[in-house]
Amino acid sequence: MSRTLYDCFKAKVCTDQILCEACHELEMEMLQEYSDSLIEQIQGKFLAEDIHDLAIGFHSLEVIRYDSRVIASIYSWALSDPNIQKELAERYFQHLKEKLHGEKSTD
Ligand SMILES: [Zn+2]
Repeated sequence: MSRTLYDCFKAKVCTDQILCEACHELEMEMLQEYSDSLIEQIQGKFLAEDIHDLAIGFHSLEVIRYDSRVIASIYSWALSDPNIQKELAERYFQHLKEKLHGEKSTD
């Protein structure tokens, strides 16, 4: 089996900012394939205005405590779990309610 990008990360040969040549090539291949897959999934489920809203959310995303791999896993889990989606929807509607009435969120 060939060495993967994550083997390099584990061995601390490469980091999020600096990739060796082999990892850079692999990253570029995977980036195109996975980006196409993401766009295909999003376009199948959302309208253009929704996608614009998602883009704004990603633009505003602040990754504070975890690396991007952990954040991606968290969102993947949240998107695939109906209970988490329900909890997020309830929090979102509470946020809208508080915003409408000029109240501060207690979170
Ligand atoms: Zn590498």
